[in-house]
Parts: sequence; C-alpha cells; structure tokens
Amino acid sequence: MNAMSRVELGRLISFIERGEPLAPRQKRLIHSPTSARVIGITGPPGAGKSTLVDALIASYRRLSARVAVIAVDPTSPVTGGAVLGDRVRMGRHAVDDGVFIRSMGSRGRTDGLSPSVRDASRVLSNAGYDPIFIETVGVGQIELGVVECCDLRILVLAPLWGDYIQAVKAGVIEMIDLVVVNKADLPGAGALVHELEQALHGKRGSEVRVVMASANQGDKGAESVPPAIDSAWQILSSSGLTQRRIEATEAELVNRVQDTFANGPLRGAIRAGNAQLLAEQVTLGTISASEAATELFKVALATCTRTGNGPTVKKEP
Ligand code: GDP
Repeated sequence: MNAMSRVELGRLISFIERGEPLAPRQKRLIHSPTSARVIGITGPPGAGKSTLVDALIASYRRLSARVAVIAVDPTSPVTGGAVLGDRVRMGRHAVDDGVFIRSMGSRGRTDGLSPSVRDASRVLSNAGYDPIFIETVGVGQIELGVVECCDLRILVLAPLWGDYIQAVKAGVIEMIDLVVVNKADLPGAGALVHELEQALHGKRGSEVRVVMASANQGDKGAESVPPAIDSAWQILSSSGLTQRRIEATEAELVNRVQDTFANGPLRGAIRAGNAQLLAEQVTLGTISASEAATELFKVALATCTRTGNGPTVKKEP
C-alpha cells in the first residue's frame, strides 16, 4: 500500500485529469493492477444516489475500510476538483483520513468511462482504498456508460419514478448487478420492488438482486446494501470479473487512441487549414462530405506516420 496523503492524492488526480506529465513515482501508481472493488452507482437524478453513497461511506468506515468516492459528471469536461455537493460531503468527512471524495468530469464521454477516471481509480486502489464508488451526478438520464466500466454496477431507483421501469425493461437491467430501491419510507416502494422482480424474471438468470433502502436514515437505513454488494461480488468473482475488467480496459484503450488522434494529428490538420479547405470543396459540390472526411483523416494520419508518434498503420499505396 502506498502511503500518500489525501492532499497528495488530490494533486495527483488533478495532474491526471489535466493530462499533465507524471513523475516516475506517480506513474508507478497507475501501472499496477487494480485490486479494489470499483463499484459504479447510477440512476435517475433525485433517486438518492449521493445520499446512499454517504450512508455506504459510514457503513464501510465501520468495517475500517478506506473508502473512496469519485463523483463523475458526464457533461463536464474537467471539474478541477470538488463541486458544491462534494464540498458539503467532504466537510462531513474532512477529519477522516480514511475517506477520499473527489469530483471529476468525463469530457462528455458517455460511451465508456473517461481514461482519467480509470487512472484515478487505479491510483486510489494502490493507495489502499477499497471499495471505490464511482457515482454518476448530473441531471441527465441514467448514465450507463460511466458504470459500464466499473467492476460492479448498482442501479438506484425510487418510487414515483415510473418512467424508469420502462428503461429497466428496455435493457438497462442487462448491465446491472444490483438494484437498490431507495426511499423505502415512501409509498410505492414495495410495488416498485414487485414490478422490478417481475421485469427481472427470466432475464439474465436470477442473480440480479433487488434490495430496499432508506438512505436518508444513514447507514442503518442502508444496512441491506453492503451484504448485497458482498454477494453480488462473490457471484461476479466466480463468473466474469476478469472478463469484465478486460472489456472495460479495451473500451478505455479505444477511448485513449481516439483522444490522442483527435487532440494531436487531427487538431494539427485542422489548424493547418485542411478542414476548412475541404469544407469549401464540399460546399462548392466538388467532393462529397464523406470523401472530404476520408481525405482529412488521411492527412491527419500522414502526420502521425511521418512523425513516428502515431500508430503503425500501413499507408495506402
Ligand atoms: P441523487 O440526485 O440521486 O444523488 O439524489 P440525492 O441523494 O441528492 O437525493 C435527492 C433527495 O432525496 C434529497 O432531498 C434527499 O434528502 C432525498 N432522499 C434520499 N434518500 C431518501 C430516502 O430514503 N427517503 C426519502 N424520503 N428521501 C430521501
């Protein structure tokens, strides 16, 4: 385990988020394999995700675990640290060195977790935090892309969110390991559980569990969740954890290559005026937009093969 203070950790994650060069000692922290449980928490806004994560922090601290939370806002490019909600939470846990809370943007990526969030969770794992919760924030729909790259995926729902039952039926549930019906104190929670169990019946085996919680009553109100996480983890460990991690890393690698290409050679070709020139030709009707896009791609690719920085892709004859 690496003895890093929370301040050092926060600074390192800022470096990662801004894509700044890392010192060799820092690089080692993103190299080693992640041993911690990385748990994604998604659900509609207002279902109680943040409240639940707060309750779970208390539960896991009781077990002496070091707990980390990364709150990901998929609409934000770079947060540069804590947003308001997290500052409130951090205030509560400020004196507790066993809790690390941090907000991060995902640069608009919803098709797979942003590389910097992946590296941040590696760093936190190497610093001894386990579990690491990746919580989606923001006002959008259920953010699946973010949790897709986590080991374990939790969907938080609450009664009076009937629309989301449709989403659940329409495939969201295929990706989820555990559903928490929060706000169990409100009418309709039992009916929601029943409806979910019906929807789950016959889908992807019977291993997806549904548990109830009243997260606003703290760890006591969410006491059903850690045991449900444990059993979901056991099922996953014995079936597909490694495969899931490989798939997530594959998606991450693709994202990294796309980012490198878009921010390097493609940006260079655009700056050099190639995109504008081609756009003029498309507007004049000389070439089609798809031909122009292929041409722009080739120009950008030629820069990387010339500089030797890019991928080794054979040039067309
Ligand atoms: P998020 O947008 O999913 O992160 O939701 P929040 O955690 O911000 O919670 C939204 C609102 O629901 C807040 O006002 C919480 O106090 C409230 N809330 C959270 N958990 C419960 C619960 O178990 N019961 C009730 N009645 N309200 C809750």
